Amino acid sequence: MIIVKSREEIELMRESALVVSKTLGMLAPEVKPGVTTLQLDKLAEEFIRDHGAIPGFLGLYDFPNTLCMSPNAQVVHGIPNDTPLEEGDIISIDCGAIKNEYYGDHAYTFAIGEIAPEVEKLLKVTKESLYVGIRELKVGNRVGDVGNAIQKYCEKHGYGVVRELVGHGLGKTMHEDPEMPNYGRRGYGKKFIEGMTVAIEPMINLGTKRIEQLSDGWTILTRDRKPSAHFEHDVAIVNGKPELLSTFAYIYDALGITSDEENEFREKRLIL
Ligand code: MG
Ligand code: MG
Repeated sequence: MIIVKSREEIELMRESALVVSKTLGMLAPEVKPGVTTLQLDKLAEEFIRDHGAIPGFLGLYDFPNTLCMSPNAQVVHGIPNDTPLEEGDIISIDCGAIKNEYYGDHAYTFAIGEIAPEVEKLLKVTKESLYVGIRELKVGNRVGDVGNAIQKYCEKHGYGVVRELVGHGLGKTMHEDPEMPNYGRRGYGKKFIEGMTVAIEPMINLGTKRIEQLSDGWTILTRDRKPSAHFEHDVAIVNGKPELLSTFAYIYDALGITSDEENEFREKRLIL
């Protein structure tokens, strides 16, 4: 069952999403060679609690940490550990926070220093595909329209689109209806309605779409051990159109990146 949110509830969800956005922005300059994912996890937990929120993943389905940290061939759900990041790595950081009872949940894949050009392109295309998908999230369209747009955009570049893991509705629980696959058929699936709130999150592999799970019961990685990228935004349907609740602006500010990708999904320029 799809749980539609009022304007007031959407504003509360924006607060939750922004806690996560700020957490990722705080982490951005710290994501560098020599740092461990466990160190970053501690920073994130402290930051979230200091901002009046609760880590959203910690303890959820018994996950042991605040962040899902998935380097290189890991797709999602990696567990933070004490292995230092190295120049040339990529790391997908997925973060959740609960504020005013609502979840924020979004993710960004960071490059550690200089990375291989083919991996840089994977990151670029995966992030672009997120917005290609969001553009389809409007009243009258269907779940398959978002998935189809993302799939087509990524497969055009020869990438593998993960099938087993999908985006989702978001609210007072982390995973609400509907499921939001990153693949699908145009014109199929549930119809979008005003007030829906969802997390759209392409998980895109440089090589095969096939994945496997480590024996830790969490970590998902590519079967061919080629890199995988993951970008996620929280989006509400307002006035029939997609409106971003989360933002990468804090990351961009920290890293000195200029980007206008988010502008069309905002009523006005976000003031940090
Ligand atoms: Mg997430
Ligand atoms: Mg999610």
